[in-house]
Formats: sequence, structure tokens, C-alpha cells
Amino acid sequence: MIGTAAPPLLDIRRIYFEPAAADLARGREILARFPASERIPIESHWRIPELRESDPSDFLRPKRETLVLGVKKGMTFRPNGRSADFIAPSTSNGCAMACAYCYVARRKGHANPITVFANIEEIAAATARHAARLGPKPGPNQVDPDAWVYDLGENGDLSVDATISDNVRDLVALFRRLPNAKGSFATKWVAPALLDYEPQGRTRIRMSLMPPAMAKLLDVRTAPVAARVAAIPELHRAGYEVHLNFSPVVLREGWEVEWGALFEELDETLPQPVKDQLAAEVIMLTHNSDLHEVNLAWHPKAEELLWRPDIQEDKRSESGAVNLRYRTGWKGKWLRRFLDLLATHMPYCRVRYAF
Ligand code: SF4
Repeated sequence: MIGTAAPPLLDIRRIYFEPAAADLARGREILARFPASERIPIESHWRIPELRESDPSDFLRPKRETLVLGVKKGMTFRPNGRSADFIAPSTSNGCAMACAYCYVARRKGHANPITVFANIEEIAAATARHAARLGPKPGPNQVDPDAWVYDLGENGDLSVDATISDNVRDLVALFRRLPNAKGSFATKWVAPALLDYEPQGRTRIRMSLMPPAMAKLLDVRTAPVAARVAAIPELHRAGYEVHLNFSPVVLREGWEVEWGALFEELDETLPQPVKDQLAAEVIMLTHNSDLHEVNLAWHPKAEELLWRPDIQEDKRSESGAVNLRYRTGWKGKWLRRFLDLLATHMPYCRVRYAF
């Protein structure tokens, strides 16, 4: 019988490109990497009508088959204070994966495939200048005791980006030479390419985890949780600092058993050197009505978990959308229980922040 293998994460057939991006060395490299792809010039990576108007219930194909090449314009550094000290200007946006709860802005349309920015040298130079202006970090905070930490992957997943171009390699190399700064990104993908980037402890990967049965339902197209867990010691041996990102924490009946089993597995799997440097961030689910409507069209089963008005409360945002989060009072109690459970199974795992 012929197997029914899952389609590959990426099978790039079409590249929309800003001509300025195609003129840069990184742009040329990426185009050369996908020689058979159709090339479509665009004025701006934000304005691609075919992507905007595509059927929201058939968006996995554009995620797999479409790549956008652009030039990053604004080099802004936003203070953060949670995952990082600053959000660096991104080297990409969009994602080939399709987590049902994904809050990454979808200004290119719901499919929001990966846009790679080709002006990596400019982005790296702006980051180096920003870190130089800051000077030494004056004192420890929950983000890091010594280094200013820059989040590099707020708008996508850099492990997948590493399969497309050398942008992530260049960022890792940048932080290797900045004496007062570290790079950091959260990921749900496993990319062997990362293993020979030589981060020398100056890039932090936050491996994003949830119980496997839940991930199977919600983390569409991501690497299986078992593969992500197995990658942690390898990434650490390769020189990354590796933290954990428990996000989003989605509650359902029996959640403590599922999460307890994950913590137990981590405790059994992670070698001592990983445990010695470990920290985690914990973020309870926030959902919203617009995403709920979109998800109902393609993945209603996920919505049975994500949309729980019986245990959530709503809050209207400035844009008029309704955001849902676990009810005040209950949320605090459940978060406490989550943290206690984590401390019981993995007492060495410092919690950097939780909300
Ligand atoms: S991996 Fe991250 S960016 Fe990609 S779909 Fe999932 S949550 Fe969104």
C-alpha cells in the first residue's frame, strides 16, 4: 500500500519578491535556492492581493508553497521586559506552521506565509548599534542576569526560517560577538541546520511545549512534541542556552494529569547540564472572536478547546474584537496550580515570568 505521508512543511513553488530584495545578496541566494519557483514581482510585501483574498479555509497550501521576499523598513527596538528586554527588528514575518491559537499578526491575509527580509546586514548592523548604545546591563532582571536580550522571532519561527536562508546563522554570529547582548527566539520546529551555527551561549532558544495530545490538536504542522523535547539536549550541546516556553497553557478537564506527565518526561529526558541552566516562561491562553470565527471554518475541533466561554471572560479590545481569557480569580488559582505542579516535578526550573 502506498503510504500517506504528510506533505512537507515547505514546498516553495511561488516567490513574490520586492525587486529591491532580489537585488541584495541574500535575496539572490534565496531565489537561487528555489530555481523552479514561479517569480512574481510586487511593490510591497504587505500588499499581495492574491494572498489577502485567498480562501481562509484553504490557507495551508499557501503556507507550504509561497514565499515572500522583502526589505525590512523600520529598524525599531521595542522594550519588552517579558521574553526579552527588547524586540529586535524582525528578519522575517509569517509562518509555515498553523497553530490554531496563533496571535501573530496576519496583515498579508490569513495564510500569512513566510516573508524573509533580505537586508539582513542592515538589520544586524542596527542591532549592534542599539546594543552598543546601551552599554553594559546595569543589573540582573528576570530576562537575564548579565546580557541585554533581544527577541528575534516575534513574528514567526526562526527554526523554520533557518531552512530557507542563512539569516538565522547571521543573527547567531552577530550575538556571538556582542559582549553585552544575547539573541532569543521561541520555536516549535526542529531544524538540524541550527546545530552548526556555534552560538557559544549567546543565543537562547525557548522551546515551546504543551502536552502531546493537546499539541496534536492545536499545533498544526509543527514538529511533534517528542521531537522538540529530544532536540533540547542537542541544541544545548551545540552551544545554545535552552529555556522552555509553556505557551499557551490551555485548560481542559484533566489538564493537571497531562501537564504533570510532560514535566515528568522532561525531568527524565533532560541531562543535568540542561537542567542547570533551565528557566521557563508560562503564558495562559488568550483567544479572540475573530480568530474563533476563522478557526470554525477549518478546525472546529480546536475551537472546542480554545473557545470556552464557560470558564473564560471577554474583554472588548480597542479594535472592537472580543478577547477571551480565563476568568479573573480562577485564572490566578489555575496558574498557581500549574506553577506548583511544575515545581513538584522540576524544582530546578526557574520561572522567568508567568501570567
Ligand atoms: S509556530 Fe508560532 S508563529 Fe507559527 S503558527 Fe505557531 S504560534 Fe504562530
